[in-house]
This record gives sequence, C-alpha cells and structure tokens, in this order.
Amino acid sequence: MKPPTLTLSPATATAIAAHAEATYPDECVGLLLGRLEGADKLALEAFPVENRWSGQVQLGANDDPTSRRDRFYLDPRDYLRADRAATARGLEIVGCYHSHPDAPATPSERDRVGAQAIGGFTFAFVIQAVRQGRAAEVTSWLLVDAGARFEAEEVIIAGIQ
Ligand SMILES: [Zn+2]
Repeated sequence: MKPPTLTLSPATATAIAAHAEATYPDECVGLLLGRLEGADKLALEAFPVENRWSGQVQLGANDDPTSRRDRFYLDPRDYLRADRAATARGLEIVGCYHSHPDAPATPSERDRVGAQAIGGFTFAFVIQAVRQGRAAEVTSWLLVDAGARFEAEEVIIAGIQ
C-alpha cells in the first residue's frame, strides 16, 4: 500500500511559516482545513488559533508550567470553531500544525502525549521548524500503533485543484 501523504497548498505552507515566525520564540498552533482522499490529505487552508498552553501536561517536577516555548495547547473550543469554518466551506479538519522554535521538526514526547486526544488515524500532525525567527523545514507525522509512536509522512507543497 502506498504510504499516505500530506499536500499543502502554497498559500497554506506560507501561512504556517508566517504564523510560526510571528509567535517566535513561542510555539504557534493551528488547524488545517481541506479534504481527505483516501488516507491522503489535501490542506487548502491554515486556521491559526491561539496557543492556550497553561500547564495541561506535566511531564516532570522540573517542568516550567507556564512556558510556551516548547509546547502548545489546542483548546477544544478553537477546534470547534475551526470545524464550523471547515463545514461552512465544504471542507474538513485534516490535521493540525505547531512550530518548534530553535528545535528540529520532530515530535517530542509531550507532543505524543498531547496528541492522543486529537484526530484519528489519518490526522496529520505538522511541525514547522523555526531557526532564529525564520521558518525552516516542515514535516508531518501520523500517530501509529494505537498512539504509541509517530511515523513521518511525506509533505508535498503543490497547487490543489
Ligand atoms: Zn512539538
């Protein structure tokens, strides 16, 4: 079986990069509106939301509960807002994105824990790396093995019909 891919329209890729640069050095977060074609996702629009992190996932005693530099929180109310916007356009939520300021675009353990409640098996977890305030590489990940780990999927930036 062909591995699933995520296609970002050029406007969507630009919007994610711009959002990630604007919130630097904090993480940004948003949703991706588009269409599913089998397991492949076509993202037509970025839906930026606010990073409402306030200590939801505590991994250890030394965790700074207020930092938004290496974590994000996607508020269910924002998810609902994005879902309404998608429905109004005849689209659906195909994934989410967040940024990694001055860190590689690979998911952290906190990302894996936080992702358990979001999306399904086709849901794309996009990570936009930002280095010294400038957007760098972008990756996409799928939760596999019942949420035990992330697997990378190919990201294609191309016009979508
Ligand atoms: Zn992350």
